[in-house]
Amino acid sequence: MAELKRLSESRDLTRIERIGAHSHIRGLGLDSSLEAREASEGMVGQLPARRAAGLILQLIRQGKIAGRAVLLAGQPGTGKTALAMGIAKSLGAETPFASVAASELFSLDLSKTEALTQAIRRAIGVRIKEEAEIIEGEVVEISIDRPLSGAGSAAASGATAPGKTGRLTLKTTDMETVYELGGKMIEALGKEKVQSGDVIALDKASGKVTKLGRSIGRSRDYDAVGPNTKFVKCPEGELQKRKEVVHCVTLHEIDVINSRTQGFLALFTGDTGEIRAEVREQIDTKVAEWREEGKAEIVPGVLFIDEVHMLDIECFSFLNRALENDMAPILVIATNRGITSIRGTNYRSPHGIPPDFLDRLLIVTTQPYTEDDIRKILDIRCDEEDVEMSGEAKVLLTKIGVETSLRYAINLITSAALACQKRKGKVVEIDDISRVYGLFLDVKRSTQYLMEYQSQYMFHEVAAGEADGD
Ligand code: ATP
Repeated sequence: MAELKRLSESRDLTRIERIGAHSHIRGLGLDSSLEAREASEGMVGQLPARRAAGLILQLIRQGKIAGRAVLLAGQPGTGKTALAMGIAKSLGAETPFASVAASELFSLDLSKTEALTQAIRRAIGVRIKEEAEIIEGEVVEISIDRPLSGAGSAAASGATAPGKTGRLTLKTTDMETVYELGGKMIEALGKEKVQSGDVIALDKASGKVTKLGRSIGRSRDYDAVGPNTKFVKCPEGELQKRKEVVHCVTLHEIDVINSRTQGFLALFTGDTGEIRAEVREQIDTKVAEWREEGKAEIVPGVLFIDEVHMLDIECFSFLNRALENDMAPILVIATNRGITSIRGTNYRSPHGIPPDFLDRLLIVTTQPYTEDDIRKILDIRCDEEDVEMSGEAKVLLTKIGVETSLRYAINLITSAALACQKRKGKVVEIDDISRVYGLFLDVKRSTQYLMEYQSQYMFHEVAAGEADGD
């Protein structure tokens, strides 16, 4: 269980996000009756698709239905990935959301079925309940048995401050029991800003402190041992309690921790290698036992596979079978392809997905954006990237977005801001936009350029139809 603890700490760290393509998306922007608000939580327009995503969210939250699959289909840049992010953000930290691009499954280190299995198990959560030894008591006084630099303040006033180290002794009214709690505990107390008179609960194993409230000032005696040691005393009858502590991990994390060759550090590097089938079998048996004993429950999460047309026929048949498992996550897949060949076969089908797999999908389509939607999305992105842009520049950028693509226009925000910075400006103006529009080609202009100059490129003799690989 110590490893589980380390793991949940590491998971908190990995949640820190930079400004990315979808960092402005904070949810699906739905009201309580699952109606989509025009612009909310970073989401704009695309109302029918967002409503459908809201229903999917409900399916996932109820956690009753395993193995459903949803296809988000639509033209490039119409917000399929944004919708998946919206679902992820609305789920909350306890429901796992794993995301992969189909092309990532074809790595040299792992077989594709192993990569798929790992992705699926990253999307299955296990809530493990543990009995913890909790001591509840009233804080009579807090002290630190080691002099601190710049000392005096916190200990003397009876309050604690973050970052202090030392030794805290907790003494209960049962005079036989003295708990010695280390520096970590003092830091935890500091974060909680505990003072004399507070009633607190201490989890001895994790060092976690929860403030329960304040006692109604009965004065108490306390003993002192040594010059710098004072005691914290518990009220009578509340010596120790056993409480339930819940850890949330994914099946994949349990696999990695128990796979002797890798160890839990592989979770940081992602270099987990193949995990042996016996390890997984043992874990599944153990988890099944915990479930029977009421110690654990399964939380089916979401597996999002982008560019799903890149999966081949073997992957689809593997997924077909995997979705039958009663622990299977909800599968959300996305593609911008129309009718194309199914990878690994000579057959063509809608979205490059085999008909038997298509048949089990709930299909949600995304539509091209209106000018107004594009303007709003660009506005949100300017805020997200902390870019101040004049009204006229925004009008021009929106026009560019309509003529070229939303993605291209979004990309110009950062580069125009750099151009503005270079001329020591504060607000991005029309000229900055024109400048970067001239520097970076969009797809249409790039294609036109190629048409004009293709004879100067290598392999220009390949006919256009052969080159696109479909
Ligand atoms: P592709 O098929 O090329 O993968 P996509 O449909 O997945 O494209 P996204 O990547 O989701 O498109 O969208 C492009 C950009 O526009 C992203 O930065 C995304 O966050 C943003 N975006 C798309 N739709 C919306 C929306 N409805 N509200 C806010 N931002 C959006």
